[in-house]
Amino acid sequence: MDHSSKTQTEEMASLVETWLGNPATRKILSKVAVGPYNMRRMERILKLYGWDTGNALGLKERIVGKMVRGVIGQVVNKTGITEDNIKSNMKVGYWRKGLVSTLAGIGLWGPQKPFTSYAPFLVVWNSTNACNLHCRHCYQSAISRPTPDELTTAERLKVVDRLADEGVAYISLSGGEPLMRHDFFEVAERIRQRNMGLALATNGTMLTAAGAKRLAELGCSFVQVSLDGTGQTHDKFRGLDGTFDKTLKGIKNAVDAGLSTEVAMTVTSQNLDEVMEVIDITESLGAGTFMHYNFIPAGRGKEIMNKDLSPQQRESLLEKLATEGEKRNINVLSTAPQFSRVCMGGKHSISSLTHFDSIGQDQQWADEVEFLAEFVGGCGGGRLYCGLQPNGDIIPCVFLPEVLGNIRYNSLVDVWQNSDFLAKMRRRDAFKGQCSQCDYVKVCGGCRARAFGYFNDVQGPDPGCVRNATSWDELEKKVEKDSVHLL
Ligand code: SF4
Ligand code: SF4
Repeated sequence: MDHSSKTQTEEMASLVETWLGNPATRKILSKVAVGPYNMRRMERILKLYGWDTGNALGLKERIVGKMVRGVIGQVVNKTGITEDNIKSNMKVGYWRKGLVSTLAGIGLWGPQKPFTSYAPFLVVWNSTNACNLHCRHCYQSAISRPTPDELTTAERLKVVDRLADEGVAYISLSGGEPLMRHDFFEVAERIRQRNMGLALATNGTMLTAAGAKRLAELGCSFVQVSLDGTGQTHDKFRGLDGTFDKTLKGIKNAVDAGLSTEVAMTVTSQNLDEVMEVIDITESLGAGTFMHYNFIPAGRGKEIMNKDLSPQQRESLLEKLATEGEKRNINVLSTAPQFSRVCMGGKHSISSLTHFDSIGQDQQWADEVEFLAEFVGGCGGGRLYCGLQPNGDIIPCVFLPEVLGNIRYNSLVDVWQNSDFLAKMRRRDAFKGQCSQCDYVKVCGGCRARAFGYFNDVQGPDPGCVRNATSWDELEKKVEKDSVHLL
């Protein structure tokens, strides 16, 4: 487990909680943290707090800085976190950007549970529609060549600059297969130069030892490699014989380069029986995290929705994953937001705030994480994260292809703050089915992409949850009536 990132996340959460509880701080935040100018100033101040004195500060900034230090001092006293730790975390660009976006979000919208950041913390950027494989469940319906409308290298570099200027903390390069882009490392380098976090989501087959080493040198904090089963099952899912061995090699290259590596498995009824074996493989290869990817009927995935797990199958899988998470030396996570509910249900000693958080996997931190669960809020689509398409289209989540604008012409923050679609997605009290009455709606929220994929309604019920079993049954009846069998 990566203890340094755990400590960073925990400390950031403690800071935010303390600020939230103080009305005077909130009022000040709305004046000093909201807006691009204030956010840049706040970032410089946090940088100074880290004793990186590269930027000379003016009088006003020194005053705000004094206030920031005062509040941080209170946090240090209350939590017992060491000041040295906070100072060193604030030297990390994406940590500073993430904290500023959180504070500005609270200043703008107030202390909501779950909260929405001022700008997306994370943008998952589908860099290209091209892929060297042809996976059955590909949400992007990737093909062998890039599409003609994809952003050029010059445009992509400009996009990185814009995202940095607009307050995005972290970019994950995905696809298609992002390593198919000839400008992959040029863009990755620009992300590093702009002090944002960098991650890669890949099928692993093109991840050479040299490429992994270069990623490590660029400070890539995280590599996710998809593995959908053992041997032939993986090859069948991925549409090409021999893929399994190449994928394993890619994972090994990432691990050997010292990259924090995650194995991601999209689980359907076709590979459900192989989950434990893939967890074993993850552990034996030295990767730090196994991630169950929730199946979502998007892209080519729509063609195999009859292979989706039933709510009962998913629930039993999530229970097993929570048990494995307690036993194993790796993180065992799920993108199904119901995993938070399962972990919090009283049977397990680990927690899960959301699918890109792992601090609750450590049993000694699980309780401390739980008090933050409603704040972090499960599904982060359109609230903490959004997707970007190869042609610049802005979407709420890579599995939810509703076009909200285009980065060529629109400001991301403007779209993020003013989109009616995102406003609907964030209104959990308006969700349908059991989600609206569920006592876990703030910590889970259901997968909005699944609600959209199955019901064409972003506020619909997530039919993957046992609490929404009636919605699943209705869906089955409807699909059967239309002569398509869901199961
Ligand atoms: S809609 Fe939410 S839960 Fe579903 S994939 Fe997107 S971020 Fe994850
Ligand atoms: S009913 Fe909805 S909010 Fe409640 S646990 Fe299930 S998916 Fe999550």
